Amino acid sequence: MIDIAIIGSGIAGLAAARRLAAAGHAPVIFDKGRGIGGRVATRRGDGVQFDHGAQYVTARDTAFAACLDDFLARGSAARWPDDARHDRIVGQPGMSALAKAMGDGLDIRQGSEVRALRRDATGWHLQLAGSDHHAAHVIVAIPAPQVAALIGADDPLVPLLAPVRYDPCLTLMAVTDAPAPFTSRLDSDDVLPWIAQDSAKPGRPANMLPAWVAQAAPCLSRAHLDLDPAGIAALLLPLLCDRLGADPARVRHAVGHRWRYARVTVPLGRSSLASACNTLHLAGDWCLGPRVEDAWISGRAAADALLGAMG
Ligand SMILES: Cc1cc2nc3c(=O)[nH]c(=O)nc-3n(C[C@H](O)[C@H](O)[C@H](O)COP(=O)(O)OP(=O)(O)OC[C@H]3O[C@@H](n4cnc5c(N)ncnc54)[C@H](O)[C@@H]3O)c2cc1C
Repeated sequence: MIDIAIIGSGIAGLAAARRLAAAGHAPVIFDKGRGIGGRVATRRGDGVQFDHGAQYVTARDTAFAACLDDFLARGSAARWPDDARHDRIVGQPGMSALAKAMGDGLDIRQGSEVRALRRDATGWHLQLAGSDHHAAHVIVAIPAPQVAALIGADDPLVPLLAPVRYDPCLTLMAVTDAPAPFTSRLDSDDVLPWIAQDSAKPGRPANMLPAWVAQAAPCLSRAHLDLDPAGIAALLLPLLCDRLGADPARVRHAVGHRWRYARVTVPLGRSSLASACNTLHLAGDWCLGPRVEDAWISGRAAADALLGAMG
């Protein structure tokens, strides 16, 4: 019997786990992915790397700011001074370093998709592909639209999630040896509202060719949500080359990625949710807003609610 199981090792799940560990518990985290961090992700291969999910983090909450200060002091994060108006912080050598720092020392089971979560006489039954687990308490920290399939559409918590909305985001990762006209560009009127030279962020490996990440606007992403990675690259690459003034012949690498649930547009407006029996808690960015910080605050709030319920 596991005392506390956490489903999802995104920032919400990791923040919950850290809080519980600090209170003397030993939560077990299950994640279906190969890496940890969820949408805070870095893809590596062929001598290049890309932060293809969250680009940077900012902090308004003092506790989250203190957490980032700790990562800055330990070298797993760095300031990215490309915008004088915002204090942008990135993981180094990649955004996934933030998740790794948060997950340090925790019991995280990767490649472990929880297919169903049901209440039974002794607590909660977690059904995985090759194994089953029992837990006394569970925190579910996955995107809201995926919760019903996990806990059952008839669970009383599910209707509460109905108002939550996300925008999708098609993302292009590309390498070109053309000169870089800028290091990042935010233009909310463009079909590529965000373009960043990933390789120009601090702490990236030296001798990388200019590696670019471009994000498609929600309308463009929604219209082409069924494209595969090659199709996404074919759609977005001409747009990126146009914005960079780069000759397509100088592109060395291009691959796409689809984030079906990328940025929260309508959050729940509560920091976490709990079942009537107080042994199941839900957390995620969708509780509060579209940023990493929102996920972190929600995960901590779920852990605090669980600790309160455990007495
Ligand atoms: C393209 C993009 C750009 C972004 N840019 C920024 C930015 O610049 N700054 C910013 O602050 N935020 C940004 N965000 C938003 C930010 O990444 C998210 O708000 C935050 O990372 C969400 O964390 P989370 O823990 O709530 O969810 P997630 O990161 O989605 O984590 C959920 C985890 O649950 C796992 N999971 C799901 N179902 C199961 C299951 N059944 N069993 C086991 N595991 C499961 C998943 O594998 C995943 O690891 C961006 C997001 C995207 C996609």
